Amino acid sequence: MIRKLKFENKFLLLYIFLGGCWILFSDHVVLLIVSDTETLSMLQTYKGWFYVLFTALIFFRIIKKHIVKLRNAELKAVRNDQLKTKFIQNISHEIRTPMNAIVGFSELMLDEESIEPETYQFYAKNIAGNSNQLLSIINNVLDISIIESGNIKLKKENIHLHPLIREVLGNLQSVLKEEVTLVYDFPENGEGVEIFTDRTRLQQILNNLIGNALKFTEKGQVSVGYTANKAEVLIFVKDEGIGISKDELSTIFNRFIQSSTGHKNYGGTGLGLAISRELCTLLGGKIWAESELNKGTTFYLTLPLRSE
Ligand code: ADP
Repeated sequence: MIRKLKFENKFLLLYIFLGGCWILFSDHVVLLIVSDTETLSMLQTYKGWFYVLFTALIFFRIIKKHIVKLRNAELKAVRNDQLKTKFIQNISHEIRTPMNAIVGFSELMLDEESIEPETYQFYAKNIAGNSNQLLSIINNVLDISIIESGNIKLKKENIHLHPLIREVLGNLQSVLKEEVTLVYDFPENGEGVEIFTDRTRLQQILNNLIGNALKFTEKGQVSVGYTANKAEVLIFVKDEGIGISKDELSTIFNRFIQSSTGHKNYGGTGLGLAISRELCTLLGGKIWAESELNKGTTFYLTLPLRSE
């Protein structure tokens, strides 16, 4: 019951308790320790001061601890608030860009009387590409709220890793830049290892990691591969892109966080890695990154081969 009391009420109770103890027991305690009358009368004179000093020390410690806790909570709230504002600005921009493209190309299709088949294809491709981009932003926002509410449901099944990774790579061919090569580095064994996990969620994680590697690499190689032992599989996505500084590497898995270089030139919402980390934990695995600024980044992901 005392645990449920507010801090100020607990504090008042403690104050009364300590005062009561002092009034009731201080004389007995003094008599136990001291026997000669001179010291006894001196202690009696300064008894009040001892109490003030003793309680001041205790109360100072308690109040200091409480204030530090409050200050930290306030700083966290302010930081969250700033992050959310930044997120809203980012996301508005991220939504407006593909929306403008969709509206623009649709209007062109409606306005032009006769469109060459190639131009028609070009407009349609742009509309489809931008619609997909929009959909993935909306999916990310929905996913993070489902994960936060704890309502995410996993559907695990046996999956062969090679075809799954190849499918993800195939879907990302459209965003491949001219000077970037995408290679995979699989162990030579047919369909690859079999893993019991949630196909859609694993695809989503790989999509985020490989999508980021392709997005943040202007020139060079992006390689995707894995190694496996009897218990788990280690998947890696290695790029030769802009890299992430040491300071920022520890925070990029947090919601809405983007590295300074990544944010400036590439846009994004800062949700992909936060979602990937949450999903990975739900699947019983771990995710981390190693990076060097301007050299490249490698993301690692471990998953148990079997988990219930
Ligand atoms: P988004 O890419 O939408 O901003 P993510 O959560 O996927 O959100 O990534 C967070 C940030 O981490 C990115 O903004 C970028 O700064 C950094 N980042 C992620 N992957 C890479 C990578 N492969 N190379 C360099 N920076 C990366």
